[in-house]
Amino acid sequence: MTKYETVIGLETHIQLNTQSKIFCSCKADSWGDPPNTNICPVCTGQPGVLPIPNKAVIKKGILLAAAMNSEIRPVSFFDRKNYFYPDLPKGYQITQYDMALGKGGYMDIPTINGETRRVTIEKLHLEEDAGKTIHKPGRRLLDFNRCGVPLIEMVTGPDLRSADEAAEYLTRLRQLLRWIGVSEAEMEKGHLRCDANVSIRPIGSTELNPKMEIKNVNSIEHVRHAINAEVKRQIKEVEAGRKITSWTLDWDEDTQTLSKMRSKETEADYHYFREPDLLPVRLDAEEKDKVLAQLPELPLKRQARFEKEYELPTYNAEILTSERALSDYFEATVKFYRGEAKQVSNWIMNDVLGILNERGLSAPELQLTPERLAKVIILVDNKVINTSTGRDILRKVESSGKDPAQIVEEEGLSQMTDNAAIEKVCAEIIEENPSQVEQYQNGKKMVLGWLIGQVMGKTRGKADPQAVRAMLQKLLSD
Ligand SMILES: [Zn+2]
Repeated sequence: MTKYETVIGLETHIQLNTQSKIFCSCKADSWGDPPNTNICPVCTGQPGVLPIPNKAVIKKGILLAAAMNSEIRPVSFFDRKNYFYPDLPKGYQITQYDMALGKGGYMDIPTINGETRRVTIEKLHLEEDAGKTIHKPGRRLLDFNRCGVPLIEMVTGPDLRSADEAAEYLTRLRQLLRWIGVSEAEMEKGHLRCDANVSIRPIGSTELNPKMEIKNVNSIEHVRHAINAEVKRQIKEVEAGRKITSWTLDWDEDTQTLSKMRSKETEADYHYFREPDLLPVRLDAEEKDKVLAQLPELPLKRQARFEKEYELPTYNAEILTSERALSDYFEATVKFYRGEAKQVSNWIMNDVLGILNERGLSAPELQLTPERLAKVIILVDNKVINTSTGRDILRKVESSGKDPAQIVEEEGLSQMTDNAAIEKVCAEIIEENPSQVEQYQNGKKMVLGWLIGQVMGKTRGKADPQAVRAMLQKLLSD
């Protein structure tokens, strides 16, 4: 049996998070708004109006192009892509064709086996979105709110080799878009849309076979499912001796099936020509440098630095750099703490992430600021409180906004450090629980944990569990 290799390229449409649309002042993000409430003569293509490019769109385009290692053209052009569709009232879409803002580029993504896959970028250009057709039985409704919403279309080379790699690319892209602040990248709101081009070939072959374009996948998990289903179908077809011809397929997540939408159009169908109503986009070097100076350290680079500089395991570094705000929070805490960064990483992973999730907050919104978190860790290090009290205090700091030391003081939570006091409580517990003590002395060593729990309960969690363990062992061996 022939072994096959999967060849995948992804076409993404990224909605830029600007206030207004790309060529008019209508609100750009109309998610949830009633149909046709964010429209004007420009974005609906009325006669006699002229588009005016939104500078913020171009800035965000430059940032993304730079983050994708794309060459930024000093002069780029807008073009018209002509086609007729009811949700495109102008009869054409303003996009960029052969002289787009970005040229080439790539993103390196980690693969499951610890290697790196270089995903090349074939296209990176600015364009406007079209409207939305809503299909109802017997009629079609049109919503033009999305007309003129700023997009970046980005097309990868056929570089991805499995559904998992495609999912990884999208996950990393979504992380990057939020990180550099160009898009909210919420797939379910259409901020990040993805079509997947999928083909197969025998392993060892370098030929590119006719590809299937899968549309309408609106989550990363759905992309994974759709690609896996399509690969299975293509292998079955080829094994049965049938030829694959290019189609556009529609994915239905509910039934996990693909259905044929149409045969694929070729680019020649669109009759591209330069947009006569817009000047070329000219970037002077100074302006471009000013934008590029805003580009932060990128997520994968920061992850690698965390592993090296703070000696964090890959897993921790990956979680801590999942969002830029969280990675900033971690580094700020490390600065206040001045001890081992691994400690800070553990406290964030074990406790702070839980608090963020429970309360639906992002790191900068926490009352448990980096400084306060560092103070709690230092209190534990100095044995003023034990770890479990420290964990409780994190939540109390978050609810009250109080300083950790103040909470320790007010609630009398300081750890019992007086050995004589610990000994007294341990002796009482031994006295009160003769049958457990007997079990312990008959070799059932696990009972010790239960006895420690009793002492901790009696001291309201204020004793140092290590000291209690040592004391109980000493008293029981006497
Ligand atoms: Zn408008």
